[in-house]
Amino acid sequence: MSKKRIYELARELGVPTKELIEALANMGMPGLKAVNTVTDEEAEVIRELFQEHQGQGKEAASPASVQEAKVEPEEAPARPKAGVPRPPVVAVLGHIDHGKTTLLDAIRKTHVTQQEAGGITQSIGAYQAEVDGRLITFIDTPGHKAFTAMRARGAQVTDIAVLVVAADDGVMAQTLEALDHIKAAGVPMIVAINKIDKPDANPDRVKQELAQLGYTPEDWGGDTIMIPISALTGQGVQDLLEMILLVAEMEDIRGDPKGELDAVVIESHLDTARGPVATVIVKNGTLKERDIVVVGPSWGRIRALVDYRGQRIKEAGPGTPVQLLGLSEVPPAGERVELVKKPGQAKALVEERRREALQRRRVARPLMTFEDLLEAAEKKKLAVVLKAESTGALDAARLELGTIETEGVELDVLHAGVGPINESDVLLVATAEDAQPLVVGFGVKVDGKARRAAEERGIPVRTYDIIYDLTQDIERAMRRLLGPEYEEIKVGEAEVLKTFDIDGVGRVAGCIVRSGKVVRGARVKVLRMGEEVFTGEIGSLKRFAQDVREVQAGRECGIRIRDFDQIQVGDLIEIYTLREVEG
Ligand code: GDP
Repeated sequence: MSKKRIYELARELGVPTKELIEALANMGMPGLKAVNTVTDEEAEVIRELFQEHQGQGKEAASPASVQEAKVEPEEAPARPKAGVPRPPVVAVLGHIDHGKTTLLDAIRKTHVTQQEAGGITQSIGAYQAEVDGRLITFIDTPGHKAFTAMRARGAQVTDIAVLVVAADDGVMAQTLEALDHIKAAGVPMIVAINKIDKPDANPDRVKQELAQLGYTPEDWGGDTIMIPISALTGQGVQDLLEMILLVAEMEDIRGDPKGELDAVVIESHLDTARGPVATVIVKNGTLKERDIVVVGPSWGRIRALVDYRGQRIKEAGPGTPVQLLGLSEVPPAGERVELVKKPGQAKALVEERRREALQRRRVARPLMTFEDLLEAAEKKKLAVVLKAESTGALDAARLELGTIETEGVELDVLHAGVGPINESDVLLVATAEDAQPLVVGFGVKVDGKARRAAEERGIPVRTYDIIYDLTQDIERAMRRLLGPEYEEIKVGEAEVLKTFDIDGVGRVAGCIVRSGKVVRGARVKVLRMGEEVFTGEIGSLKRFAQDVREVQAGRECGIRIRDFDQIQVGDLIEIYTLREVEG
């Protein structure tokens, strides 16, 4: 019996998948997902029901009429979002040699409209594929380093991640890294099980491995979308593209061409002929030729906008990748493009940034010791990337970390993997929001780029040879996040000889200091017949009606304990001060 997926059915009916799912839920079939399959018979029932449902007003539906219908008030979605659907921005991640580049090339060859004669074909770092009349923007630099480098600057460019796993090789080290990077980014993922043309391809094994990691394929009842493909022969690539569009539709990815500009640099370089060149992806708003922009440390009036086919364009709207010419210097990837009105404003902003950056660099260095950095932190979450020399060592370290519990502080292991600490580890931890970042290695080295990236961002990186040292440091780091700890030190004792009730003040104890000293503001314990009856602090301390700071042993004084009027003759007052505990 043949089966059909819900999204295929939606396509047949000429309605957006989301709408069909909503309608089915209203008709008593909740919880269906776009990738769920139904039998032919079930499909027939759904078709009839849906058409009846729709028939109460509208005829069922060519895509165009449904699009129009959508703007009618009764069809408006529950939470209307601004703007119009825009092309999703897709990044391709995965282990080396699993076929990321081949896939991107295959899509480019088959789905990118050829430029007109005279255009210069060159990669600008992203391109747009046309699939069934709709566009998908692909970031052309595969891999999680580029993906996370942007995020480390606070820019989320990617809407959907495609994870490529070779069916003959299965889940490998960088697959695991990529999975963690995608998870940390919180973007929807589609797994492309690649190289299914190979005789030794085993897609089921890939599914098995991913399922073990908690990513259960939808056809096994989970919700991870996995599409078998061959980037080499093209088999399944169309399915993958359609699935991307479907996910985009489900995610309701939108942009408003007239809205505020949100554009991010994904690639940049210095061109000998054209000067600084930056490729940006516009997520919202519209970038126009002649606009004055500030991009991180650089600024300029846009001299030209060039699209992925090498053609000059006048403006670039939501979802569009475009090369931008006319900047004063090369901005780093991940920087945002900001619009300003006047060149003077742009220059001032850039100057201010330069000063700030310089200052940051000055403070970042002394902060580089682990302890100092943590001292300054006010966050209650420790975001950790853990690297170890072998899977055995990694498992051991993980197990140990799992036993650490510090109340009020969260330990979030963003990624744990085998191998030296590399740049993408640092970048990943740098993306953690509201958390103190920390990269730790167990029996591994830190590569040079990672060290530089860490220094630039003031991220502590530490390596250990003994697991106990590692867990102790992490535990200490977590405790530090709670702020300094104090211990109480007893500094003296006083005995109550008389009491006075004073109007508007309360009860004051006339005391003799038996040992040590009494200090104004100190913490006290009141003991009666050896039992503790109150703890609090000294509100006022007087000697011969004068306010004093301290009274030494052997002398008399008047003590008023804040919020305590039950003090009695014969009570013993113990005096404590607080001392910060060394962490
Ligand atoms: P990347 O490192 O992930 O970008 O991988 P590449 O795209 O460079 O691919 C690595 C190798 O795998 C190349 O030799 C490709 O020709 C080959 N390859 C990629 N996709 C397929 C596929 O679907 N089938 C087969 N048989 N080989 C593939």
